[in-house]
Amino acid sequence: MTTERDYGQLLTLTFSTPMPYEWSIGKYGSLFFHEIRAHQRFIGIRCPQCGKVYVPPRRLCAPCFMELDELVILANLGTIMAFSVVNYPFPDPATGEQRPIPYTYGYIKIEGSDNIFSHIINETNVERIAVGMKVAAVFRDREEMQGNIQDIKYFEIME
Ligand SMILES: [Zn+2]
Repeated sequence: MTTERDYGQLLTLTFSTPMPYEWSIGKYGSLFFHEIRAHQRFIGIRCPQCGKVYVPPRRLCAPCFMELDELVILANLGTIMAFSVVNYPFPDPATGEQRPIPYTYGYIKIEGSDNIFSHIINETNVERIAVGMKVAAVFRDREEMQGNIQDIKYFEIME
């Protein structure tokens, strides 16, 4: 007696379903984008135990397991910690549209924070960009802001 059955070819189900959703960005995520809209600057949050400042603000400090509630006003300035000029086209996960290439994706340390913030840098010539350069965030016009990461258009090099 055998317990295996051979049904031959595997079957698939084909259907389409709309999946609209809204995802809450939470209290601190909302504060982050409200601060950008109101004052064109960043807001972070400090851990009471280790003193690290995170931007965008978050509820918990992962290394300490501490709940965070001390908000810190930060400027729109930072330092390039790493970057990559992207020449390979693929859909932008934020929009679903293909971002024109080339573009530069950077890891930026916002002044007064201890973590890395990633976003677009508006320089694609590798001869004119370097780790350690100072950058400033450039925001959408206030009336165009939608409360998402696209409200930051890009970071531009200040040097
Ligand atoms: Zn901590």
